[in-house]
Amino acid sequence: MKVIEADNVYPWEGKVRIPEEGEFVKLNEDKTISVPDTPIVPYIEGDGIGAEITPAMILVVNKAVEVAYNGSKRILWVELLAGDKAEEKTGERLPQETLEVLKESIIAIKGPLGTPVGKGAKSINSILRRSFDYYSAVRPVYWMGQPTPIPEPERVDLVVFRENTDDVYAGVEFFPGTEEAKRVREFLLKEMGAKEEGFPEDVGITVKPMSEFKTKRHVRKALRYALENNKKTVAVIGKGNIMKATEGAFINWAFEVAEEPEFKGRVITDPEAEPEEGQVKMVKVITDQMLMQLVLRPEAYDVIIAQNLNGDYVSDLAAALIGGPGFVPSGNIGDGYALFESTHGTAWDIAGKWIANPLSLTLSGAMMLEYMGWKEAAEKIYSAVRRTLADRVGTPDIVAGFQKIGIDAKAVSTLEYAREIIKRM
Ligand code: NAD
Repeated sequence: MKVIEADNVYPWEGKVRIPEEGEFVKLNEDKTISVPDTPIVPYIEGDGIGAEITPAMILVVNKAVEVAYNGSKRILWVELLAGDKAEEKTGERLPQETLEVLKESIIAIKGPLGTPVGKGAKSINSILRRSFDYYSAVRPVYWMGQPTPIPEPERVDLVVFRENTDDVYAGVEFFPGTEEAKRVREFLLKEMGAKEEGFPEDVGITVKPMSEFKTKRHVRKALRYALENNKKTVAVIGKGNIMKATEGAFINWAFEVAEEPEFKGRVITDPEAEPEEGQVKMVKVITDQMLMQLVLRPEAYDVIIAQNLNGDYVSDLAAALIGGPGFVPSGNIGDGYALFESTHGTAWDIAGKWIANPLSLTLSGAMMLEYMGWKEAAEKIYSAVRRTLADRVGTPDIVAGFQKIGIDAKAVSTLEYAREIIKRM
């Protein structure tokens, strides 16, 4: 990475460069992590605007760690290749070397990666998800002072836990008119009690599986998060009234988890009861109700536990409430393994202009610091970003948002924006 001066960044140079003075984050037997004072943290720049927002994120995270720990802690950033840059340098979109280092490093952060259309290429994001079983997509949504489409956006402060491996993500599809759809239809009609009226000859069929094991590990992760962070209300969503075997089962399994010894007494499920200190309340909300509630009463929920497809809808609506995906961080988290990433895409239309908003990736960096237990450094980023927005400084997209609501703001480039944030630490 030539665009920033930092002696703790190790760009890919013909191969991955692992600094001798660094140590990998350790995965403990109970799937928690132990973080050394000089951890090796891999980064993947990403395609499109990735090469611009990644250095901005590194600048901000580096400064936050320095200010919070006075030099006693330091990240060693190691570049791994994936996507277009990997193809250009190695001929492969996801080199084996990248997978090997990700396995060893446990945590990592990445910019957006595109999937070339029509070349038969597989999505690198889904290969990574499968390789490291990042089974929960975690998206905190909170307001930091940016322009938003709703009044009182401070009412939005919640975390969506979206299941990442099950449901339509693992589903199979049979396209209308194919031999496969015909055979599945016949099987359903002849052997499974399906009715002709629902399955005319021209149907397409999508099968969405949901598993007890996958649901329960995801729910446990969300409940642990809620308890550790003193959250009050956890909503489990789904269309359990319509899809009883899958989304209904998901909700039932979630409530079974609340009865497990780890949670019993700490997760309360009586709809009439109010949670006391050290307790969270778990409620069931039908997905369409939740979408409406998010707009009308977003303050009612602190954590939302969702399946894959419902989680997709809910996390995008929640992000829109506070100004869009450009302001929302995300983490893909499994048993210890975690990959943090920006929520928006590669934004090729503005790539190379140095006007991309680096906040989503920078806040993902802060989320990674929290996951590492470096909460003081994460806090430095949150308060500096709040100050920068309060001072009405932003990349052109942020400035345009302010201007739309009649507020003047100063436009700066991606890297200048990172420096404006740093100035306020
Ligand atoms: P996109 O997010 O790349 O772009 C949508 C619009 O938002 C564009 O006008 C873009 O300029 C703008 N935008 C996005 N991020 C911005 C930022 N940080 N600052 C300012 N403006 C920003 O969405 P898309 O066009 O649907 O997707 C493009 C590619 O990205 C696709 O190949 C898609 O698969 C990929 N993608 C990757 C990820 C990921 O890696 N996690 C996520 C979403 C999309």
